[in-house]
Amino acid sequence: MGLNEKKIVKLASNENPLGVSPRAKAAIRKALPELGRYPDGSAFDLKAALAKRYGVPEECIVVGNGSNDLLEMAAAVFLAPSRSAVYSEHAFAVYPLATLSRGARSIVVPAKNYGHDLAAMLAAIAPDTRVVFIANPNNPTGTFVPGPELEDFIARAPREVAVVVDEAYTEYLPRELRYDSVAWLAKYPNLILTRTFSKVYGLAGLRVGFGLMHPGVADLLNRVRQPFNVNSLALAAAAAALEDRKFVAKSHKMNRAGMARLERAFKRLGLEYIPSCANFVSFAVPRHGEGPRAGTVYDKLLRQGVIVRPVAGYGMPDHLRVTVGTPAENERFLKALEAALEA
Ligand code: PMP
Repeated sequence: MGLNEKKIVKLASNENPLGVSPRAKAAIRKALPELGRYPDGSAFDLKAALAKRYGVPEECIVVGNGSNDLLEMAAAVFLAPSRSAVYSEHAFAVYPLATLSRGARSIVVPAKNYGHDLAAMLAAIAPDTRVVFIANPNNPTGTFVPGPELEDFIARAPREVAVVVDEAYTEYLPRELRYDSVAWLAKYPNLILTRTFSKVYGLAGLRVGFGLMHPGVADLLNRVRQPFNVNSLALAAAAAALEDRKFVAKSHKMNRAGMARLERAFKRLGLEYIPSCANFVSFAVPRHGEGPRAGTVYDKLLRQGVIVRPVAGYGMPDHLRVTVGTPAENERFLKALEAALEA
């Protein structure tokens, strides 16, 4: 499009606009000379750091090439052509992909106000269901299920169903909404929590995430895990990023302020948006004539060098999803959005 690449604002993939944490960068530099060797397939140091942080034994932790890898491993272990997975309408795109790739059946439960309808999801569990996927907060809606409701669902779900709670954005929750899902692991052996270093820790390009679960379930996931699924730089960077509390706090604060800024602007522009607990927000582009106009506005933003995410593939043809950026990026986006809506 002939745009100046340096001026392009990418708010399409829910990455951390602050980039890589300084401590992670230093760890990457330190790990470079050892790249001739294979990574530590047991992820000894990273698991030790995670075990300490979350107060769980190392046997409860499985590392992944992004948390995406954990979702695929759970599907590989528990799904097959004669089985089904339950997930919500508008839920994260990898759930249908992981389910389909195992030849299993998808049971898609209609959303309630764009969020998970846990009562309906519980009722939808069939005799052949082996996995339920729940994203909390969910992408692309940013919706959130309060901790007590989520625990109630897990307590009621049949024990032979693995409940995968995908917490990729959990670090972005406002403090008053936080809940201690790790404490539930001791009670529910069928619970799998997935987390990532791609978001608040700023390591999306390295691909590293992890799962917390019962040691017996971790053993099953480790059997389908590729031996060197997480590379050396990712292992070193993740362990360092975990300790970079200052960077995480700064990222959280900037995200909350940026979210408030975007919400104020949407209100002023008369745009409906789905209140979000994550680092992105989906807003509706009003229709003027017959069909959805989100695609046109997306295109007009693109031509101004601002990349957001169309979510028609999620059954939301009128919405666009934008990641909260730096203050300057948010202003660029809002200015471009106003122009795109006028034209
Ligand atoms: N879960 C959710 C809800 C996500 O939005 C994403 C990333 N877009 C992931 C999991 C996977 O992220 P990663 O593989 O980078 O950890």
